[in-house]
Amino acid sequence: MTNFRFKLVNSAFSRTNYREKKGENENYSSIFGQNVLTVSKMKDYLPKNAYEILVQSIEQGVQIDHDLAEHVSQAMKSWAVSHGASHYTHWFQPLTGSTAEKHDAFFEPDKDGIGIEKFTADALVQQEPDASSFPNGGIRNTFEARGYTAWDPSSPAFLYETGGSKTLCIPTVFLSYTGEALDYKAPLLKALNVLDKAAVDVAQYFDKSITKVTASLGIEQEYFLVDMSLFNARPDLQLTGRTLFGHMSAKNQQLEDHYFGSIPERVMAFMVELEQEALKLGIPLKTRHNEVAPSQFECAPMFEEMNLAIDHNQLLLNLMEQVALRHQFKVLIHEKPYAGINGSGKHNNWSLVTNTGVNLLSPGKTPKTNLMFLTFFVSTIMAVYEHADLLRASIASASNDHRLGANEAPPAIISIFLGSQLNAVLDEVESSRVAKKVKTEKTLWHGIPKIPELQLDNTDRNRTSPFAFTGNKFEFRAVGSSQNSASPMIVLNSIVANQLILFKEEVERQIKKGVKKDLALLNVVRKYIKDSKVIRFEGNGYSKEWEIEAAKRGLSNIKTTPKALDVYMQDKSLQLFDKLGIFSKRESEARHEILLENYYKKIQIEARVIGEIVNSMLAPAGINYQNTLIENVRGLKDLGLSEQSYTSQLNLIERISEHVNTILQDTESMRQERKKANAMGAVRDRAIAYDERVRPYFDQIRYHLNKLEQIVEDEKWPLPKLRELLFVK
Ligand code: ADP
Ligand code: MG
Repeated sequence: MTNFRFKLVNSAFSRTNYREKKGENENYSSIFGQNVLTVSKMKDYLPKNAYEILVQSIEQGVQIDHDLAEHVSQAMKSWAVSHGASHYTHWFQPLTGSTAEKHDAFFEPDKDGIGIEKFTADALVQQEPDASSFPNGGIRNTFEARGYTAWDPSSPAFLYETGGSKTLCIPTVFLSYTGEALDYKAPLLKALNVLDKAAVDVAQYFDKSITKVTASLGIEQEYFLVDMSLFNARPDLQLTGRTLFGHMSAKNQQLEDHYFGSIPERVMAFMVELEQEALKLGIPLKTRHNEVAPSQFECAPMFEEMNLAIDHNQLLLNLMEQVALRHQFKVLIHEKPYAGINGSGKHNNWSLVTNTGVNLLSPGKTPKTNLMFLTFFVSTIMAVYEHADLLRASIASASNDHRLGANEAPPAIISIFLGSQLNAVLDEVESSRVAKKVKTEKTLWHGIPKIPELQLDNTDRNRTSPFAFTGNKFEFRAVGSSQNSASPMIVLNSIVANQLILFKEEVERQIKKGVKKDLALLNVVRKYIKDSKVIRFEGNGYSKEWEIEAAKRGLSNIKTTPKALDVYMQDKSLQLFDKLGIFSKRESEARHEILLENYYKKIQIEARVIGEIVNSMLAPAGINYQNTLIENVRGLKDLGLSEQSYTSQLNLIERISEHVNTILQDTESMRQERKKANAMGAVRDRAIAYDERVRPYFDQIRYHLNKLEQIVEDEKWPLPKLRELLFVK
């Protein structure tokens, strides 16, 4: 068995085929978008007027009629088939968190038995996968099991190649037969739409030519790489995406020698291929670097329109896995693959851009544009203050709990970092001095403080803030690396839209009372600055003092998922989503249930894996080595040596007994707790039982397993050690 482990390490060390890939670098600009059917490419495949209607429909979000869909389906087929595609699929994002597809061949025999390629408007617009095999939170039980996917024309179709087969992928939403959303995209599109309307309404106070506001998103993706053989020898990595035990490598990140270090050659070969494949799919990957932990890396595309950015991130996750395999790597996108070193996040960089090309979160040059900036800036802060718990819930999962509120993780408190310059600006606006000044001026614009030119690099210093303003965008940093970003972005877009609606209502109320528009705007901005003040925090978000201070300020610090999710069921949230048309009450309930189920199932799987590893692999390894020691002691005794000369061996024998005995007992007790939890009827109770009664055994068992690992002879330890997982590359 041990020999097996050494063989794996040896095979990991002797990977060389990445060297053969050298010289294959393609020109990045020339391959960009090669596998994407952009709207402009459709021009070559569509009649002129059909093309024009399509462009208009997409720009205005108008529904596409059957005739146009027929033209588009023919265009898609011609393009796809001429690029070697044999199949097509609706590509969607169910609540599993990953993507789903069901392929159909273009091929069909015609009535004379001759093979032809066929793709119709009906097949483009709608398909009917069985909804019952996807998480649906009970939505299907009362009605039909059927669900349907419907084409999202705002995200272009693309060709995805895997296993030598090229498939035309058509981004779609996924709904139940009764119209409830069963995916991430449908509510995201609704939230983007609501945000657009609300933001335009407010932007119109400043500039009548603003008729559309688009949310932009730039997603930084952190991940780990590990050699494929070593990965496959660890049942915990294979089945749960993280290591459930393993003594920390003596050297890990303490020398800080990995971050931004030179990228290892084998990893670089992977990155280059990933970038090229991503570019072909229109994903504008731009940045790559080593992250803080050993074997941890990051890639980031240029920001894009949000719906597209999220499709691209989901696609990127698939691509990473696929390309990694070609380099005998496995990608770990789990938030905390290794205890004791940094975990992985997915920073979501969010901003709002107008049809006139203005970033509403970019401080303006004139007082008027400054007030427009302040309006959107402060409304966002107010929205986050009002709905911090929803934002917290939107990033809650069993895996992200390791990054939020756990032992070695930052607290789960949502606060906002602005940087000293903008804090000073807000303080100045808040102080009555400005308002008085405004009242005496003819127009308000003279009363707005000048916002100093922001140095982008300066605003980004505080890396401990979960929600930071970084010059011209907010960066939501608490998002987990494995999550679909739609979850937090649905919430962020919704709460900001809601706040902008309230902002406008308040301004209008004041105008009705006779307050001048300019002053009314400033009044509401000032009120928001005052009301939301407690959410602003510039200090170290990871410190113990901040937890105490935040509690005094009344900010929530909800450490685990089952309780963080409660907010989805509170009236305030239900009403918010219902009012904006994002989620009906039923959809909210369904989502809540799915998230709870997902939570306890993840812990359940981890507990089972621990059981298997303890009972059949590591306790036996301990006993095996203990037997060797016992034999040794017996032999020494037979030789007539005094007990003095083998006290260390006796001590080891005892310590092994202690650890083995404890892990076996704990594993059995944990199994009993699992049985009790499984018997609970309400899913929330079950999730809490898994969190509070099952999960605590994990750390206890891990502690003793790690002790055992340090004692047992290296030869007799069957599973790859962390130093091997982290440093063989
Ligand atoms: P850092 O690690 O310093 O936060 P990165 O360069 O890794 O910065 O990532 C920043 C991300 O933010 C990129 O995806 C970038 O395209 C994106 N971004 C930059 N400006 C904006 C903006 N105005 N709106 C949204 N995203 C933006
Ligand atoms: Mg970064």
